[in-house]
Amino acid sequence: MSDNFKAVAQSWVAQNLPKTLVGVDIGMYGPQSSTPAVLEAFELWRQRLAEKGWGAPTWPVEYGGAGLSDAEAKVIARVIHKAGSMNPIPYLAGMGVTMVGPTILEYGTPEQCARHLPGMASGEMRWCLGLSEPNAGSDLASLATRAVKDDSGWVLNGQKTWTSGANKSQWCGALVRTDPTAAKREGISFLMLPMDQAGIETRPIRLIAGESPFCETFFNDARAASDDMLGELNNGWSVIKRLLQHERQSQTNAPPTSTKVEAIEALALQYVGLGPDGTLLDPDLRTRLAEHLMEAAAHDLTIGRIMAEAKSGNVEVSATASILKNSATDVAQHRSELLVEIMGNQGVGWEGDAFTAAELHTVREWLGVKAMSIYGGTYEVQKNIIAKNILGLPETTQKG
Ligand SMILES: Cc1cc2nc3c(=O)[nH]c(=O)nc-3n(C[C@H](O)[C@H](O)[C@H](O)COP(=O)(O)OP(=O)(O)OC[C@H]3O[C@@H](n4cnc5c(N)ncnc54)[C@H](O)[C@@H]3O)c2cc1C
Repeated sequence: MSDNFKAVAQSWVAQNLPKTLVGVDIGMYGPQSSTPAVLEAFELWRQRLAEKGWGAPTWPVEYGGAGLSDAEAKVIARVIHKAGSMNPIPYLAGMGVTMVGPTILEYGTPEQCARHLPGMASGEMRWCLGLSEPNAGSDLASLATRAVKDDSGWVLNGQKTWTSGANKSQWCGALVRTDPTAAKREGISFLMLPMDQAGIETRPIRLIAGESPFCETFFNDARAASDDMLGELNNGWSVIKRLLQHERQSQTNAPPTSTKVEAIEALALQYVGLGPDGTLLDPDLRTRLAEHLMEAAAHDLTIGRIMAEAKSGNVEVSATASILKNSATDVAQHRSELLVEIMGNQGVGWEGDAFTAAELHTVREWLGVKAMSIYGGTYEVQKNIIAKNILGLPETTQKG
């Protein structure tokens, strides 16, 4: 990374981030119920980032990226965060930029890369992931959705569930059974298919934190093109293992913790107040807050160390994804529990003028982060992976 990369990024962001977006909560699906001016600014910001290749900065330029390093991408994210905004493209692309895209880069043909990556990198194509089924969650290899080849491509039948963003996505990456006679992990393939077709129905499921585009997805003679299989026929298990590592890695890359840490300390002082000795009034809360800050700092430092070791080739980052996913989950869940406690009654309001927007957001976030120990592979399943693949402990009696 060149010495002045940060300064160049700061200058670009200062010139290109529309001022109307500063401090606006963009949200996962773009600004909700916003003014036309904010929506217009949001679209301009997306276009500028896409033209610069900063929607997916580490991807090759020919596929819509900017050919930058991980470290440079991190600098860009921090600079945008510091300027009071965020990069909406990875959210607009759903599971595209963070999961399906990196897997296409590794397993895809040049034609598949050229066909699918630019739409993700510009945030114009949202992708969902059809993995889980009613009878296949942690034990994903039990999946039953079938894909059968005919003269013009693949025909899919079956049901997926918990498909985030399915009713808002243009494309789906689906794990399907292509050889029912093979051992359960050997007859599976990964297909990419457009969502806008008669053979797909999505039914949203309401989440505890409110409305959501989290769906049951039904394939009823849905179609995928012959050349939209990612990786080899019946080798989908390798493809999905890699994709899930990308998912776990993306879940460890929270925005810089330093700003969150200041925020939680400041909020504690605001809601709980200072005691006569000049420290937080509630000593028990003070201890737990300090423990949380240390846990968050240790998590950040561990990410930094692993990135540095990966750069020097001493560690394979993918092997650590399960550890980091669980520690990111601990940090996020402890933080949201502390925030609700700090706010007291104000932290459990659901609606109404008695609560500020930040208070209403806090209770939704507290409910929302509970899902973090479930999606992308549950907390317990990560512990199994750590025990088996990292610590080399023997198999449990429970096979999966
Ligand atoms: C917000 C959210 C978004 C999601 N988005 C998607 C999506 O976009 N696409 C998609 O395909 N899926 C998605 N999922 C589904 C998610 O991947 C599954 O919920 C998850 O893999 C767990 O599967 P399950 O729900 O069937 O639980 P189960 O596998 O039935 O697990 C139930 C409980 O048993 C425990 N358990 C299971 N097996 C073991 C074991 N071997 N050892 C120890 N404990 C075990 C689990 O830890 C858990 O506590 C999402 C889930 C959530 C909550």
